[in-house]
Amino acid sequence: MAPSILIVEDEPDIRDLLKFTITRGGYDVLEAESAEHALQILDLKLPELAIIDWMLPGISGVDLANKLRREELTRQLPIIMLTARSEEIDKLKSFESGVDDYMTKPFSPRELLARTKALLRRSGAPVDNIVELEGICLDLQSHEVTVGGAKVHIGPTEFRLLELLMRHPNRAFDRSQLLDRVWGRSVYVEERTVDVHVLRLRKALQPHGLDRLIQTVRGIGYRFSPST
Ligand code: CA
Repeated sequence: MAPSILIVEDEPDIRDLLKFTITRGGYDVLEAESAEHALQILDLKLPELAIIDWMLPGISGVDLANKLRREELTRQLPIIMLTARSEEIDKLKSFESGVDDYMTKPFSPRELLARTKALLRRSGAPVDNIVELEGICLDLQSHEVTVGGAKVHIGPTEFRLLELLMRHPNRAFDRSQLLDRVWGRSVYVEERTVDVHVLRLRKALQPHGLDRLIQTVRGIGYRFSPST
């Protein structure tokens, strides 16, 4: 499934241009014409990235970004802010609004797409069916895992486990969350099964010196922890 990108912009012409640009990049688009509308959409679906215009009627783009950063569900959502004036970028920096990147309007569609891709890659979202972090490369189509071109031999369960953890770097999952997402809700497996597969995954990564990335979070479960 292609990553979905939320676009929040009130001006129809610019929203259309954004939609055209992002769709052409191979992503799914969710559109909102206001921050309020965006929040309704986010209640139903969590995108992989949001592009938010600063100037919106009602709640401003900056206030929306701040709000998203405060909420558990959207805390990690990568955000690109669009601004009409370059002076606003200084404000953005000083605000520490948690915006990951910003562009001034009029923007170059090509550059916006490049930045979107780069930000998705940094956040662990799949880009062109590839999830890549810390030198580990997952091919979602062929289900192959490579490190620096060398194949890592892991089973299908370990693959799904690694994919989930890498798509949400730094996020700790407990065993029941891992069971639901990796094994599926309809399957009954004991929680200690998770530990067995985590162990296998670490063993597979160990020859590459990367087993340390799969960390145990005491009292919770496991997480993928990039070194930066
Ligand atoms: Ca606007």
